[in-house]
Amino acid sequence: MNFDDKNEINNFIKLLSKLPGLGPRSGRRAALAIIKQKEKLLIPLKDAFNDISEKIVVCEICNNIDLKSPCAICSNQNKDMNIICVVEEISDLWAIERAAVFKGYYHILGGVLNALDGVGPDQLNIEKLGQRIKQNKVQEIILALSATIDGQTTLHFLIDYLEDFNVKVTKLAHGIPIGGELDYLDDGTLTQAILSRTAAD
Ligand SMILES: [Zn+2]
Repeated sequence: MNFDDKNEINNFIKLLSKLPGLGPRSGRRAALAIIKQKEKLLIPLKDAFNDISEKIVVCEICNNIDLKSPCAICSNQNKDMNIICVVEEISDLWAIERAAVFKGYYHILGGVLNALDGVGPDQLNIEKLGQRIKQNKVQEIILALSATIDGQTTLHFLIDYLEDFNVKVTKLAHGIPIGGELDYLDDGTLTQAILSRTAAD
């Protein structure tokens, strides 16, 4: 097969190669594994993709993805209304939920500030955070951002932004490895970082 050909198999490989952690080589391997197992993988995957693409929505409150908006977390009345945990990505929300240490609500920024990539405050879900704080009289904002340079730039921007609101601002305790993303932390480290959070200033 000529790999420059624009046929369905090559298209499939190209799409798979775009997934995080995969490149062209792994993309080819994954494509072949899927194609060879038509009943076991290919058709169930096709159905799962269809289901997901039809049913998934973005939560109008926190920016999470779920099958309904507001999402299951925002619809849960038994959480602590006073605290919102701000995270970069949905994977961070999942990590904190897995650790089962946090009882409040979330707010997903959808990325971090990065001048080179053209990500400014307007590209992030920041204004809605201000609205939520005002509307719900939120008492504490936990900035659960990664220890990357961009994560820390975003942290300092948010600390300045939140000065205008009557709200306590905290950040995760040390113990987050430099350059580390929340998703890579084990539950114990993440739990400790949240429990021993400190005032952000
Ligand atoms: Zn939500």
